[in-house]
Amino acid sequence: MSKRLGILGGGQLGRMLALSAHPLGLSVVVVDPSAHCPARAVAEHIQCAFDDEDGLRGLTDCDFVTFEFENVPETAASQLACQGPVYPPVEALRASQDRWVEKNMFQSLGISTTRCSRVDKLSDAHAAFQALGPMILKTRRFGYDGKGQAVVRHAHEVEEKFALLEGAAAIAEQIVSFERELSLVVCRSQQGEIAFYPLVENIHRQGVLRTTLAPAPNISAELRHAAEKAATALVKHLNYVGVLALELFCVGDQLLANEFAPRVHNSGHWTIEGAFTSQFENHVRAVSGLPLGSTEVRSAAIMTNLIGQVPEAEKILAVAGTHLHDYGKAPRSGRKVGHVTILGDTLAEAQARTEQLESLL
Ligand code: AMP
Repeated sequence: MSKRLGILGGGQLGRMLALSAHPLGLSVVVVDPSAHCPARAVAEHIQCAFDDEDGLRGLTDCDFVTFEFENVPETAASQLACQGPVYPPVEALRASQDRWVEKNMFQSLGISTTRCSRVDKLSDAHAAFQALGPMILKTRRFGYDGKGQAVVRHAHEVEEKFALLEGAAAIAEQIVSFERELSLVVCRSQQGEIAFYPLVENIHRQGVLRTTLAPAPNISAELRHAAEKAATALVKHLNYVGVLALELFCVGDQLLANEFAPRVHNSGHWTIEGAFTSQFENHVRAVSGLPLGSTEVRSAAIMTNLIGQVPEAEKILAVAGTHLHDYGKAPRSGRKVGHVTILGDTLAEAQARTEQLESLL
């Protein structure tokens, strides 16, 4: 009988995980409260809240359980861990759910971060501004894609910006004048084998990832080595199994860790066509105890998120080297509804094709 993979979360990441689990002979069940979640088209679906104990018991017959988002409720994670193997480890979830814990963990592992301090009350925010200067207040929990954040550029703004957090526990981070944002997607198997995809460059707009350039141009051996060293320390410390993404600010020849995601990541979507083994397949391989596949680059790639609505497929696919991923979501302003990956023999070729596509749309 085929082995069974349970996934907490049935969004686009769950969908792409399921799509890469099928060829490995696994059957897939996702848990998601939404009746129309994207993974539903390609997997069995248990429709229930993430903290619904009875619903989660539907995963008891799974051989392995994983998740596609980091804000899995602690109770759900603990219940699942009692039912059977859960990868990545619950410890990784805990660290990634709280920015203060996460930053401290980075620092304890010798991974440099932006300067930051803990903000529980207004006087902490004033003290932080004194110490850091221009800063970003970020809620410690449940922030993503720039949500739960307030930029403070002047001392007189501290009170008003602090109020926007509505009393949530927060951190203050010094604003970094980075040259670019990079990320490293790493995978660790149950046997402790570690594989890295190349560093990629990410371009954000309004806190949301728009475009990934893969591999990132002009990466020195030192920079690559520093990123891989940091990721290795992290996955070993967490006894990690699966794919993890480390988001980094690049300042001159220095890397500062911003955050990590204990899951497959938007900046790794290019690997579906651009690498020998996609991040989704490697995550499934790791979670189900299989050897990892090669993370070598097959082709330079530019991944662009489709936000709001998916343009006509005919137009997108008219450009050479283009691959469309439509997540099957209803159109809505600001929503990630799909992505396009454009391949080229070189990044310059992929860039030219991307420009051609932009002009067509
Ligand atoms: P985050 O939610 O921490 O991933 O932040 C979303 C985006 O905001 C990042 O990808 C950066 O573009 C920007 N950002 C976050 N923190 C900082 C910082 N300390 N300095 C400058 N930009 C930042």
